[in-house]
Amino acid sequence: MAWDFETEPEFQELLDWADEFVRTEVEPLDLVFENPYDRSDEKAMAYTRPLKQAVKDKGLWACHLGPELGGAGYGQVKLGLLNEILGRSTWAPSIFGCQAPDSGNAEILAHYGTEQQKAKYLQPLLDGDIGSCYSMTEPHAGSDPTLFTTNAVRDGDSWVLNGEKWFNSVAAFAEFYIVLAVTDPSVSAYQGMSMFIVPAETPGLEIVRNVRVAGFSDHEAYVRYTDVRVPAENLLGPEGGAFAVAQTRLGGGRVHHAMRTVALVRKAFDMMCERAVSRQVRGGTLGSLQLTQEKIADSWIEMEQFRLLVLRTAWLIDKHQDYLLVRKDIAAIKVAMPRVMHDVAQRALHLHGALGVSDEMPFADMMIYAEIMGIADGPTEVHQVTLAKQLLRGYQPAPGLWPTEHRPSRREAAQAHVAARMEHVVANH
Ligand SMILES: Cc1cc2nc3c(=O)[nH]c(=O)nc-3n(C[C@H](O)[C@H](O)[C@H](O)COP(=O)(O)OP(=O)(O)OC[C@H]3O[C@@H](n4cnc5c(N)ncnc54)[C@H](O)[C@@H]3O)c2cc1C
Repeated sequence: MAWDFETEPEFQELLDWADEFVRTEVEPLDLVFENPYDRSDEKAMAYTRPLKQAVKDKGLWACHLGPELGGAGYGQVKLGLLNEILGRSTWAPSIFGCQAPDSGNAEILAHYGTEQQKAKYLQPLLDGDIGSCYSMTEPHAGSDPTLFTTNAVRDGDSWVLNGEKWFNSVAAFAEFYIVLAVTDPSVSAYQGMSMFIVPAETPGLEIVRNVRVAGFSDHEAYVRYTDVRVPAENLLGPEGGAFAVAQTRLGGGRVHHAMRTVALVRKAFDMMCERAVSRQVRGGTLGSLQLTQEKIADSWIEMEQFRLLVLRTAWLIDKHQDYLLVRKDIAAIKVAMPRVMHDVAQRALHLHGALGVSDEMPFADMMIYAEIMGIADGPTEVHQVTLAKQLLRGYQPAPGLWPTEHRPSRREAAQAHVAARMEHVVANH
């Protein structure tokens, strides 16, 4: 198969359309309307309905999904190219039907949902008629899911959930929650946790408060479950199978975040370059100074390296159709993402001087976003460990006292090899 960095012309046309559409119709929404998740904002919903229809008409709605679920089934590479456009705007994923956490929750429902669950929750989610929440992290434990304590106990035809969850994005706007709970504390967490669908109006489900992340969102919910009773058929996936179910969601989610981060890094880079050629300093533009040029060159290299790593990972997912087989690559882009975002946004902020630190420019938000990308879906350190462990599996210990590439040992072996050959050559001369 050929190596090819070109986009096929038919899809490029769609990308060009999306680029123009996002620039002219969608990016302005970020400055006018509050929150893409708030479907009670009738003005915003009415305004955006025709925009969503335009995306559907172009066949670009819910592109993360296969055709059997109403998506175009373009695959991850093309999704990556599209997300490189959508990531510029907070509203764009909602206008294109691929916003988190609904996109990941749809993936879980599609893979593990019963026909009844799909009809009730998946279809309206895909149509953009309802919203969802993913409820996993707890106040006392995030990175290590084996410490989660929210539990679900079987009681006749129901499950009863108790516990607390933390940083559950956009819970306030969700019609249902997908909740991870311990169902069998006597076995390892990897076999003893299950997923449940909990409708938002269920008695006992309470949003204690919405936590604000400056420059990012006002809706990271602290949720309490007190004797929350759901029917047995609300178990999502196998009993005890929550870890496998979660991986279906988190693998895709991390890649989609990375794809959209490429867009935001590009935005910061473009602003940096515009500033460099606009701002006059002693003797010329900011861009004529070599230290500015160094910032621009380094930023471009880091951005393009990251982009290629993301697209290669997308290509591997298309090839293997299994997130677990691409775990190392997903971990790598998860680690690279906050660094590249931070470094490019920081340089862009710096070149804008006082204006850069003000809230009249988006750089501070971008730097917070970089920090978030290093925490949400697991912190950087956890992914570094995953990556390193997977890489080390491909290596064997050195056969003796010295490393394989130890020069004196290799020279000795090479000399012995040549000497043996030489005897042959001389004998046959
Ligand atoms: C904006 C945002 C949105 C989120 N949305 C959701 C959501 O919708 N649903 C949901 O369930 N959760 C959500 N989360 C929670 C997120 O998944 C957790 O924050 C994440 O898993 C980290 O858990 P923690 O915050 O408890 O940090 P901790 O686990 O306390 O970790 C804190 C720090 O400790 C260090 N650390 C932890 N473990 C290790 C390790 N093994 N090795 C080395 N160092 C380590 C790291 O430096 C880490 O940053 C969201 C988080 C953010 C920031």
